Formats: sequence, C-alpha cells, structure tokens
Amino acid sequence: MHTPTTQHRTTCCYCGVGCGILVNQDANGRLTVEGDPQHPSNRGLLCSKGMNLHYTVMDSSDRLLYPQMRLNRSMPMQRVGWDAALERTAAVFRTLIQKYGPDAVAFYVSGQCLTEEYYLVSKLIKGFIGSNNIDTNSRLCMSSAVVGYKLTLGEDAVPVCYDDIESADLFVVAGANPAWCHPILWRRIEAHKAANPHVRIVCIDPRRTDTARSADLHLPIRPGTDIVLNNAIGRVLIEQGWVDHDFITSHTDGFAAYATQVMQRTVADAADLCGIEPAQIEQVARWIGQSTGFLSLWTMGLNQSVVGVNKNLSLISLHLITGRIGTPGNGPFSLTGQPNAMGGREVGGLANSLPAHREVTNAAHRAEMEAFWQSPVKIAPKPGLTATELFDALHDGRVKAVWIINTNPLVSMPDVNRAEEALRKARFVVVQDVSNRADTVPLADVVLPAAAWLEKEGTMTNAERRVTYLPKVIDAPGEALPDVEIIWRFAQKMGFGSQFNYATAADVYDEYARSTAGTNVDVTGISHALLRDRRSIQWPYSAAARAVTESVDDADTGAVGTPRLFTDRQFYTPNRRAQLQAVLDENTSEPTDPDFPLVLTTGRVRDQWHTMTKTGRVAKLMQHVPQPFLHIHPADAQVRGIREGQLVQVRSRRGEVRVNAQLSDDLRPGLCFLPMHWGKQPGNSTLNRANNLTSSLVDPRSKEPDFKFAAVEVVPYRKP
Ligand code: SF4
Repeated sequence: MHTPTTQHRTTCCYCGVGCGILVNQDANGRLTVEGDPQHPSNRGLLCSKGMNLHYTVMDSSDRLLYPQMRLNRSMPMQRVGWDAALERTAAVFRTLIQKYGPDAVAFYVSGQCLTEEYYLVSKLIKGFIGSNNIDTNSRLCMSSAVVGYKLTLGEDAVPVCYDDIESADLFVVAGANPAWCHPILWRRIEAHKAANPHVRIVCIDPRRTDTARSADLHLPIRPGTDIVLNNAIGRVLIEQGWVDHDFITSHTDGFAAYATQVMQRTVADAADLCGIEPAQIEQVARWIGQSTGFLSLWTMGLNQSVVGVNKNLSLISLHLITGRIGTPGNGPFSLTGQPNAMGGREVGGLANSLPAHREVTNAAHRAEMEAFWQSPVKIAPKPGLTATELFDALHDGRVKAVWIINTNPLVSMPDVNRAEEALRKARFVVVQDVSNRADTVPLADVVLPAAAWLEKEGTMTNAERRVTYLPKVIDAPGEALPDVEIIWRFAQKMGFGSQFNYATAADVYDEYARSTAGTNVDVTGISHALLRDRRSIQWPYSAAARAVTESVDDADTGAVGTPRLFTDRQFYTPNRRAQLQAVLDENTSEPTDPDFPLVLTTGRVRDQWHTMTKTGRVAKLMQHVPQPFLHIHPADAQVRGIREGQLVQVRSRRGEVRVNAQLSDDLRPGLCFLPMHWGKQPGNSTLNRANNLTSSLVDPRSKEPDFKFAAVEVVPYRKP
C-alpha cells in the first residue's frame, strides 16, 4: 500500500458510459485509480477496463516518443524535431492543395479525441483548407443513430439520461450487449431490476450474450430481421390500442403512412421471418403497452448495418406511437461506443457537419461559421468523404494525403485488406498516435507522438450528453504533445496563425462554446473552469441558463444542465413535431450462397477495447480472452468436420481469417461470430483480423458499414 498524496478527478477514456475516475498519485508518482463516488454516471463503480486504466500510461515501452519522418517509404524513419515534421507536412499539404485542390487532403480522426481536438481539426480543414474531408471512426459505430434521430426528432439529440433507468420498468435492449460493452450502465439496470422485481428486460440479439441471459425475454432473431420485428411490434401496439392517440395527433406527423406500412405483414409472417414465435412479439408489445417507463437501448447491432438508419427509425417509432419520450423513464437511447463520439458530433467532426450540429449543405450554416471563424476560404457546400469513401478515394488516387489521428483503421475498417492497400497507395500518410501499437505506423511518412489520457487536458461528452473535464495529471513521455497543440502548431505552419493562436485547450473550448450560442447544442454556459468545479454538465446549458442557475442554486449540488430533452413535447423539427417514418422491412446485406452459406457477425469481448492499442498493454485484461476465436454452432461445425479448438479457415468474398473454433449453441445455426479487436500478430500475419472478411457495403444515408452481416464459409484449416 502506498499513501496517496494527490487525487485528481477525471473520466474514463474507454466507452461512452463516461465513468468518473479518481486518480491517486503517491509521492513517487505511482498511480492508482478508483471509481468516483460523486460522479453521477457511475457512482463509484468501475468495470474491469476502467479499474486497470492507469496501467495504460505507466509503461512507456511502446510509446511514440518523438516525431519521425522519412522522404520515401524505402527509407527508415528518422527522428526529427517538431518544427521539421510539421514544416514538411505543411509543405506537402500546400503543394497537393495547390496542384489538385483542397479535396486532395483529408483527416481521419477518432471518437477517442477530446472535443477541443475534434473542433480544431474540423475548423482547420473546413474553414481554412476549404475541404470537408474529415471523418471519424465514429462513422463506423453510431452514424446510423445520428441520422435516425435527425429524421425523427429533428436533430442528433439523445433525448434521455441515465437517471431514466431508475424510472423505467421496461428495457428493450436491441443489438447491444451492455453487460460486456457498457458494464457500469448495465449494473445500474441490474440493480434497479433487483430492487424492483416487476421491471422487465427484453434482449433482441441473434446471440445469447450475458445481457440476453439476464433478460426476462430473449428474442434470438435471424440477423437482419430487426425491422421486421419492430414493425410487427408496432402493428400489435396499434391493433391492441396500446398507442397514445393524443400524443400522435398533437406531436407527430406520418402516423397514417406508418400504420399502413406495419400492416403489410402479419405477425405470424414476421415471426416466421425472424425465427421466433408470434407470441413473443405480442408479449413485447403487451409489455410496452403496460409499461410506465419504456427505455430502449441499442448500439452496433442496429447501427452497423446496410439498413442501419431504417433499423433505428423502426425502433424510435415504437416510442413515438406510444408517446414514450420526454417523460421520466421513457425514450430511445442510442448508447455510444466511444468516450467522445458525442463530443465529436457536436463540434462538426463528421464529413457532413459543422459545429453545433450545423450542416455543410446548409448555406446559412456555412455563412455563420465562415463569419465566426473569419475563414479565408468558402466552406465547401458538399459533404466530405465519409470513412469508407475516404479509403476508396485513397485507393484510386483522388485523395493524395491523409492524416490519421488516434485511430487504427488497419484493424477497424471493413474489408480491411483493401483499406491497407489504400494506405500503401497514398502519396503521403501522417500518423498521430500514442503508441507504436497502431498498425498504421509502419505505413506512415510522418509519425507524430501524441499525449495520452492523463497527459493532456480537455473535455468529452458521454452518451447522455454529459460534458466532463479531464485534467492533465502527468507529463507525457519524450516529446509527445497534446493533440490540440499539434493541430494548432500545424495550422500556424500552414499560415493560419492569427486564427489558431491558442495558449490552452480551454481557449479552444471557449471558442467552440461561443459558436453554439442560440443553437440546440448551446453550451455557452459551460467552461473548463466551471467543469472543474461541477464535475460534469449535460447540454444544452446556455449562458442565460447558467445565470439563472447561479442566482438560485447551491454551487455544491451539481444540479445544472439539461438531463432530459423534449419534456415540453416540442421537437427540433421545423414544425416542432416528431416525424414518424414508415420503413420497408427488407435487409440488403450481401446474400449468402452455396459457396458462402453462413452469416458472420463481428463484435467485442468484455475486457478488450477496440483494436487493443490500450487494453492490449494490460496483462490482467488479456487473461479474460487471450486469443481470437470463432464461435460456430455445433450443428454447423459437425457438417464441416470441425472439432472444438480446431484451427479453422473462415473465408468470405474478400479475404480469410485463421483462428481456433469454439463450438457454441449461444448463437443460431447458420450464424458465426468473430471478435473484432485483434490486429497484427507476431510474425506480421494479419490472419487474426475479423475485418479481412467484412463487407464495405454501407447504409446509403449514414454511410455506416455492414459489420454485422458478411457471407462466409468455415472449413478446417489444412496446410497447403
Ligand atoms: Fe470505463 Fe465504460 Fe467501464 Fe465505465 S463502463 S469504467 S466508462 S469502460
């Protein structure tokens, strides 16, 4: 035991639950962490990943310590100073922009970036370079939910908060496994259910996950049939009169078309397509009808789909026809996978957006931001390239240079072999990251070492719109710099110094906050100083609201901000009414056929995070699942002669993976499962990568890839 000498309040940098963490630093600089009992999101609890977070910064053996560059890829990397690295990068960017136009360059960023970093990259490329080519790995996990919210509620605005959990009596968890992927949120749901036996949980998932095991009802639907199920539930709700006609009449548009659509298919037909019983559909509808608090929670199972937006719309509709939104315990809750996916959305970190949920396609929004930034160029009116489009454009040479910040696309992109080819073909690649565990580092022309969690300050927004502050606690090793400083130094090298003349991350946040004045994302009442005092604040929180709060509120209560949206039933659409959307129940994923008869779904294991660049450094976390595996149903294994533990080859139309098989009846026959975390293994083989197999088909509106549905075949591996 060592005695803590200083304690710092910060936030976990893994999932979107956004747990508060106390970091204890002893006299020797050693760190330990514990859950912050005062933080409203986790009330002192941490999951296995959060409890071991300090190990990610205590060992610098694989850290990037100083800038490096090379003049061509046949040369080894050379250590250089910051000025040399950024001047060369600026020179290459300027040359490419002059010769090919601003869309020849691009940034690919991450939901793990802090809000200030996201904002500054967005400002640089959109307002100063003149291209909208910035996209984020959040495109791969929640962009379908963004579009779903916009089309129904008028804006990308999560209407609920974690405190709704204790007011809900029905949880419908769809395409999510919070027991593993949002563990502290799940513990809160479990505690609520334990104290209130009438509370029910429905889990909709083709796999029997730990979440499904805890549910009162598990619906193991066939992959891709989510809309069929949701529409059938909608049909029963309407037929049984379990809808709120007053709410529908007063606060929504589109009910007639919605009702017509859901009546197209009988419940029996829907159940048959989903592979479940009609009584199970009726049961869910009855529970919704009887509930006083209906909370739906979802993540990748709905979002990562070629029809991801329609899946979202079909679920959100169940809230709109029953009026279960804007009141305690009710609402559609898209859980974010990454710690700051929400913050990135707020500041314009997507290829189609500008700060405060403005849109690049909206001339008035562009004009507002051009004036605010004093942009030397016009903001481009066309959305930039989204994640998969960007790698396609690198592949065919339309984009010449890409700057990748804190994300590891050579593990996480769909059809990742093609993404790797694209990076190899790119004329110029900048990798800004914390460690050399990022698989992109060997392909870079310039490598920029970034400060990690605890080594820089800034803010993040969690899944319930809660903005929290992360202080700098320790110095970064070597010459690593905070990402926000790397960007403003680069902007100065590009000649934009006067508008990138910041001294601290707080300066950047204050500028972003000013840009939100009068919008639905108004955070003019929030500052770093206030967050240090109040721990966290849910947006919107305007300067006017802050003035009122401070005149009546005890500064110690922390009761500021906006926990729940639409309490007045006034939505963010032009006519203030929610828009019901009738959606076809088709799935347009790639078809299975005799060569590729099985459906592969990819996902996560409990103790790993994304591409393991952080969790892979923690020995304790590697113990849970030390190796990648393929889950395959015993019946499918038997016909293929596959035994438990046997090395198998998984093939799709795009590539192959070799892993050991685990026979499991936790998934439906015809379905198999691979975790997505693993990248290069010793010997530089990439045969661990689940995304060797996945398809680059995307939802046409959200541009989110179809990670949950790839046609594959599995055979015992035999050496050629
Ligand atoms: Fe971190 Fe998420 Fe675990 Fe909380 S639940 S400790 S935010 S990984």
